[in-house]
Amino acid sequence: MFSCWLSRLYWALSKPTGRTKPLIWSSLSRSLVLSSQRRIPELSSFVARTNTCGELRSSHLGQEVTLCGWIQYRRQNIFLVLRDFNGLVQVVIPQDESAASVKKILCEAPVESVVQVSGIVISRPPGQENPKMPTGEIEIKVKTAKLLNSCKKLPFEIKDFLKKTEALRLQYRYLDLRSSQMQYNLRLRSQMVMKMREYLCNLHGFVDVETPTLFKRTPGGAKEFVIPSREPGKFYSLPQSPQQFKQLLMVGGLDRYFQVARCYRDEGSRPDRQPEFTQIDIEMSFVDQTGIQSLIEGLVQYSWPNDKDPVVVPFPSMTFAEALAGYGTDKPDTRFGMKIVDISDVFRNTEVRFLQDALSKPQGTVKAICIPEGAKYLKRKDIESIRKSAADRFKQEVLPVFLKASRNWNSPVGKLIMEEQGLQLIRLLEVQEEDVVLLTAGEREKACSLLGKLRLECADLLEAGGVVLRDPALFCFLWVVDFPLFLPKEENPKELESAHHPFTAPHPSDVHLLYTEPQKVRSQHYDLVLNGSEIGGGSIRIHDAELQRYILATILKEDVKLLSHLLQALDCGAPPHGGIALGLDRLMCLITGAPSIRDVIAFPKSFRGHDLMSNAPDSIPPEELKPYHIQVSWPTDPEAEKSSLNHPCHPES
Ligand code: ASP
Repeated sequence: MFSCWLSRLYWALSKPTGRTKPLIWSSLSRSLVLSSQRRIPELSSFVARTNTCGELRSSHLGQEVTLCGWIQYRRQNIFLVLRDFNGLVQVVIPQDESAASVKKILCEAPVESVVQVSGIVISRPPGQENPKMPTGEIEIKVKTAKLLNSCKKLPFEIKDFLKKTEALRLQYRYLDLRSSQMQYNLRLRSQMVMKMREYLCNLHGFVDVETPTLFKRTPGGAKEFVIPSREPGKFYSLPQSPQQFKQLLMVGGLDRYFQVARCYRDEGSRPDRQPEFTQIDIEMSFVDQTGIQSLIEGLVQYSWPNDKDPVVVPFPSMTFAEALAGYGTDKPDTRFGMKIVDISDVFRNTEVRFLQDALSKPQGTVKAICIPEGAKYLKRKDIESIRKSAADRFKQEVLPVFLKASRNWNSPVGKLIMEEQGLQLIRLLEVQEEDVVLLTAGEREKACSLLGKLRLECADLLEAGGVVLRDPALFCFLWVVDFPLFLPKEENPKELESAHHPFTAPHPSDVHLLYTEPQKVRSQHYDLVLNGSEIGGGSIRIHDAELQRYILATILKEDVKLLSHLLQALDCGAPPHGGIALGLDRLMCLITGAPSIRDVIAFPKSFRGHDLMSNAPDSIPPEELKPYHIQVSWPTDPEAEKSSLNHPCHPES
């Protein structure tokens, strides 16, 4: 099992591809060409082994090898299976008197102990080959063995098929990392990052620059973690991204910057977020939106694992307005249809009261999605729970309509739809036999956003019934463009906040609206979406200090003093520039098909932001807080106290 995935990994990433070769050959120095030819890494240089366990084959027969690894299991004190990151190999424990000490070591060492064995690669006796094991044709006839470290009792066995709770896996992460899946995920991540560096630095002249992680508060955007300093009342903040630094690098003439950047956001528990996460952060001078998009398409294509279907570029593009209208979200999963259709015109003269009401209001619409074979796969209770959750969560009515289904659950609206309206709906929604239409009415954005959520919930229900809607082997990239520059604040819709961040430039044709109807201004912001997840976002930036000051102070009502350094820099010959950041954790999660981003991060935090292994965050004695002029004010609410003192074993992940 191990060797399969490792060879897949190397094959996936090491083989130079026909596609990328011309680029390499045309633009690189001789040394780079040589290094790109030698793509199979040397796995046993500098260390006390000659080979890895998983690499041995019949071609190694007769070779004297030294292996180091963990004891996976032992059979009848005759065979021992040794494991390293590269796979498993069978070792034959010598039975003759003269090798009694070797036998004693190998028979007494507990499972998961680390041993070094030396011996000869021999073929297994006929009939004893194991075709399921990549090393199954051979075994090692051991001559010497050394116990490098004995293993005490483990909290769980290192067997992939054993289910462990995530809390336990996180508490003993160093053991969990031994699993083949974690090994695969982290090694693939490393190799993809390597290819990205190669593409950016070697093929396109980007400069890898590290930027500080101790920084100051940035207005707008995500909540930041605060770090005390020794100056009373003064704090650093951990940057939510290197945004300001990368723009300052452009002013500094480092006109193609990139960084594998650690970012921090104190956003509380969200299933697909981590308080610290990694971005491939990029900025370029003298570039426009299409330039950034082509760069990223090339980057993804170049670093894409070869064992997956090749990535086709250019990626399709959709405006924010189209995404909301068709999918009810700014990150549409375009692997499947079930798009939202406006059916308002069908019901202009309807008798149905709630449709009439909705259409009489400004922005009032009637919208629907068609669930393929919904009458076959959705149960009555599914539809009931969809309707209930729409009513509870969105205060919206959702009605099922059966137009061509043999089963009809007496939908209340069904009887009120006239024949002509039914025919129009069949045409507009392309209704087939056994399909169910889910219909809602109300304010345009609300109706779309509800149907967007129902689209995904229904996809889950259909898939639970065995329909393949979202093929895991399919990777559908999509650019979403033409976002609004500002959105109404959730807590106070009369005020505006940046849809991306306050440094994003307005769409050139909408600049005049900034001073009259800022809510109508489109931006030069673009997001990269993969299979319904946002995996990147960026923008062309404002490089004019006056415009930046106006947006910060007048529209966003931010304290410009906090950004005076940036405003000053923009006034000192700032080139036009733009950039993007790709969320590496989420990208890796989608590529590996991992259930959570924690599965592609070596030492992730739990759902509640705790390190369950070391129990961070931890308390600090009051005297150690003194230099920072800080005192803890303990919560009086016992519930809050309990959650702030979470036990490390608490299954909080
Ligand atoms: N700094 C932005 C972010 O983290 C990305 C960008 O605009 O380049 O989302």
